[in-house]
Amino acid sequence: MSAPTSRPRVLIIGSGFGGLFAAKKLKKADVDITLIAKTSHHLFQPLLYQVATGILSPGEVAPATREILQARQRRGRIRRCD
Ligand SMILES: Cc1cc2nc3c(=O)[nH]c(=O)nc-3n(C[C@H](O)[C@H](O)[C@H](O)COP(=O)(O)OP(=O)(O)OC[C@H]3O[C@@H](n4cnc5c(N)ncnc54)[C@H](O)[C@@H]3O)c2cc1C
Repeated sequence: MSAPTSRPRVLIIGSGFGGLFAAKKLKKADVDITLIAKTSHHLFQPLLYQVATGILSPGEVAPATREILQARQRRGRIRRCD
């Protein structure tokens, strides 16, 4: 667990395009970012059909989130609380 800080904290849920772009945009901002995602990889959906047709391997369309962001990521699933 990280030490308490007075910097604003940002929680990003999911490592899809939305989550990755949010994390990249905020990288130089004076905030602490935590990204929580169900998987440790980003699934590049536009190239899924190339996997289905055998042109690419699954690994080629699902790079590790850690490598894309060069940062630590927490695995987890956000549950809805009604
Ligand atoms: C086959 C296919 C081809 C496509 N081709 C194109 C294209 O050519 N051009 C284009 O512009 N768009 C294309 N799209 C659409 C595009 O991929 C989506 O619009 C885009 O991925 C949406 O990004 P997102 O970050 O909003 O959501 P997602 O990519 O769905 O990411 C959501 C993330 O949140 C995580 N998540 C969900 N629920 C939870 C939870 N409860 N707790 C923790 N994490 C959670 C998921 O694991 C995932 O990492 C395509 C989609 C598909 C399926």
